[in-house]
Amino acid sequence: MRQNRVVKQPRSLKQLQRFFIPARVVNLCFVIVLACSTLLTWREVIVLQGAYVSSQRSALENVSNALDMHIQVGVDRLLFLRNGMQAALQTPLGFAVLNTVQTAFDQKRALPYWQIGLDNNRTLPIYGVSDRLVEQSELLNRDDSRIHNELSAAMELGYLFRLSYDNSMLPRQAWYLSRAGFFLSTRDVKREQDIITTYYRLLARPWFSGQQQKENRARGVRWFTIVNNPESDSYVAASVPLDYQQYWYGVLAMSFPVSTIKPLLITTRQQQDGGEYLLYDNHFNLLTSTQPLQIASRALDSAQRAKLQAKMAQQPAGGINLGTRYVSWQKLHYFGGTLLRIHALPEGIAGDFGRISIALSLLWLLFTGMVLFSWVIIRRMVNNLYTMQHTLQWQAWFDPLTRLYNRGSFFDQAKRLSEDARVNKQPFAVIQLDLDHFKSVNDRFGHQAGDLVLSHAAGIISNSIGAQDVAGRVGGEEFCILLPGSTLEQARLVAENIRERIGTKEILIHKRTTLRITVSLGVSDVEECNNYAFEHLQSVADRRLYRAKNEGRNQVCSGDEVANR
Ligand code: GH3
Ligand code: MG
Ligand code: MG
Repeated sequence: MRQNRVVKQPRSLKQLQRFFIPARVVNLCFVIVLACSTLLTWREVIVLQGAYVSSQRSALENVSNALDMHIQVGVDRLLFLRNGMQAALQTPLGFAVLNTVQTAFDQKRALPYWQIGLDNNRTLPIYGVSDRLVEQSELLNRDDSRIHNELSAAMELGYLFRLSYDNSMLPRQAWYLSRAGFFLSTRDVKREQDIITTYYRLLARPWFSGQQQKENRARGVRWFTIVNNPESDSYVAASVPLDYQQYWYGVLAMSFPVSTIKPLLITTRQQQDGGEYLLYDNHFNLLTSTQPLQIASRALDSAQRAKLQAKMAQQPAGGINLGTRYVSWQKLHYFGGTLLRIHALPEGIAGDFGRISIALSLLWLLFTGMVLFSWVIIRRMVNNLYTMQHTLQWQAWFDPLTRLYNRGSFFDQAKRLSEDARVNKQPFAVIQLDLDHFKSVNDRFGHQAGDLVLSHAAGIISNSIGAQDVAGRVGGEEFCILLPGSTLEQARLVAENIRERIGTKEILIHKRTTLRITVSLGVSDVEECNNYAFEHLQSVADRRLYRAKNEGRNQVCSGDEVANR
């Protein structure tokens, strides 16, 4: 049995070499460069996005803080007024002028409507209705033991109203609505006959009825939003009950019309990089906006509203991407209102962050384009070099006509393999081969036909030898085969097979011309020669080849006499 060659390159190293072909290495390098640049750009984008979100949040916070501050002033004032009125109830002033008020009330209390005004420059007039009207409502009560004191206190409150009320500031209107059938208002009742309707209108307001004991047990400030169309009629009201010695006297209230909030929003918006502001009440009803209300009410569709409301229920402040817009929200401290800021994509692009993002994207595109372009060029260059290197290497080792090893590389292989066989004490055989009467092929059919015959014979030789065997073209029409692991007999059989296959094959050299050739072969091996030197083995095989020629050609010679000579 023929034995395989033993000396081999480690498989893992071979696989590694095969994997790291230059084109693959180039690909890998470029993929790493692209991935790194994309990763870096992406990181920048994330940082930029974070900065954008906090810029949106801080813009919104500024506006909501300004709004809260304005409302805070109003609330403080409301509580101040309540304390003032309670102090007046506790320590009534003994001024004669206040007695006049009480006397005037006693005279007018039965009238359907009445007005008591002392000095309109110092205090507000008191508007009232009749005893009968008071009796008709369950919520009202004209308690004779308290009414005089309350009227005096109301006069003092009117004075405080005058002092602390400024038309240019929020809130726009303030009232004291007494359960004893009278009221004070910072806005005068123009015609006396309107007193009844005004009183009843105020009684019907939620900010009054909502201050009953059962509705407001904590007796603190309560907020009410009244959404009306047109927008200018909508307002937010804060009211506080006036209690003294466990008796509910009435309600102090202030209104913050949304028409006063709108200009505040518009001015702030102008100072910022765009963005629309929308103010909602605690039921997500739109109160006012920097846009006209019809446009603002269409700003969010129902799906977006639902998404936003779900988020708003989780956090008092935050932001969310809705399509091409960034929506941030901030809950106000008062009246459960929420301020929304909608920043559209075109505004974002026009802003600082948009410009930086565009520059960053363009840079990334430019860099990626350049990398891809150089990738293509370098890949092409590396491939060409690789192919060229292979061609040169192949040409250095192989004979282009027969595609077998050329003389030089064949002898190198022969020396290496015979040395391997010597070291490993393995059989090793050599076949020397020469085409018969080849000159006449050239002479009869031309050189081209001769070349065809040569490559045809080389093909048969290649197909007839084993994977570990090596064939080479050592002369014009002379070939030599190395058979590591083969004995003389095994090599003779291989030689015989080659001879037969070459001899029986018709070779088509022209359109209608075929020819047959024969071949003579000489075989030698290490065991018989007792020598591993390739030169010796070849010379023995060569002598036997010439013996085969002399004995009539088309035969294999592995005979003893030659070896013994
Ligand atoms: P024999 O070996 O049977 O004694 O006869 P032969 O005709 O083959 O003898 P010889 O060795 O004298 O002839 C070899 C010829 O091979 C001579 C040369 O013209 C031809 N030859 C050598 N190399 C090539 C080649 O590359 N192509 C062609 N077409 N012919 C070649
Ligand atoms: Mg010949
Ligand atoms: Mg020859």
